[in-house]
Amino acid sequence: MEIKIIKASSHEMKQKPTDESKLGFGKVFTDHFFTLKYHEDLGWYDPTIEPYRILQLDPTAMCLHYGQEIFEGMKAYRGKDDSIYLFRPSENIKRMNMSAERLCMPNVDPDLFLDAVVKLVLIDKDWIPHGEGTSLYIRPTMIATEAALGVHPANEYLFFIVIGPVGAYYPEGFGPTKIYVSEQYVRSVRGGTGYCKAGGNYAASLYASRIAQQMGYTQVLWLDAIERKYVEEVGTSNIFFVIGEELITPALSGAILGGITRDSVIHMAKHWGVPVIERAVSMDEIMDAAARGTLKEIFASGTAAIVSPVGQIYYQDKEHVINGGRIGTLTERLYNEILQIQYGMKEDPFGWRVKIA
Ligand SMILES: *Cc1c(COP(=O)(O)O)cnc(C)c1O
Repeated sequence: MEIKIIKASSHEMKQKPTDESKLGFGKVFTDHFFTLKYHEDLGWYDPTIEPYRILQLDPTAMCLHYGQEIFEGMKAYRGKDDSIYLFRPSENIKRMNMSAERLCMPNVDPDLFLDAVVKLVLIDKDWIPHGEGTSLYIRPTMIATEAALGVHPANEYLFFIVIGPVGAYYPEGFGPTKIYVSEQYVRSVRGGTGYCKAGGNYAASLYASRIAQQMGYTQVLWLDAIERKYVEEVGTSNIFFVIGEELITPALSGAILGGITRDSVIHMAKHWGVPVIERAVSMDEIMDAAARGTLKEIFASGTAAIVSPVGQIYYQDKEHVINGGRIGTLTERLYNEILQIQYGMKEDPFGWRVKIA
């Protein structure tokens, strides 16, 4: 399918942010976005890059009532020589289609999806910031638009992609975070939708996140819903532990989102000869390793931060300090290495980087 392009006129073009240090995350969007419509009888039609605008939806659009909504999160990076790169975009496309399957939504043709991302990023490439650690965030989204009440899979959908410049995740430098173990509230359960980027998962997570924030913690560490014993994820990131000489991360159980950064960390650490183990990890084991001094590092992984060191954990009414509150050596090495691949500063032995300009 050929993407139709309608360029924003000069009066539709927005003022670009001038101070990259104030970008933050998710507040600024570019001049264009991509839209693609679906009807059960027609399939996907009308792929268009058009001026960014407000969407019009019927008040009974099914996404507003029954939560048929999925999304992705990826980035475009500007290299020092003004080259532009994506990082493993096919993995995001695959995951979006997996989420679509679980929520009874239609798959998008992967070639059209990638074509849309590349063309949209290139049309608005002047919006990609230059500062260290800054990037262009890409948010593909699919919503059910059929106007009808009654719980059933919709027969009409809108797929769209918005993009916007985001600031460095660590504007004050790479530093450890404090996390709160939620023993009462859970994010997802095996058999549910935890492995999908479905909007409802995030609505369900807000309550525990608010408690964590009120207690002075940045993120929630989620436990399994059945036994409240095994570690699953931290906030909207995956989690890793260095115990002894091993790098350990919870296995993908169906309740955990399979992060692309998680997969990259696993590959890279294995490539360096670090033993990497994917299995169930209990809080008891973590607390025990901390007490015995074998718990060396904890970090979270995700597109937003790459890796984020954990300095403190609140669990069972006590605060536990990890690695003396310092950044672990493996954490730091992974951060630097992945960042340099993403920004084209280093050769990419894994073939993860896609140069688009
Ligand atoms: C997006 C997300 C992650 C991280 O995935 P990446 O592909 O590494 O960005 C982890 N957990 C949850 C719940 C997420 O939504």
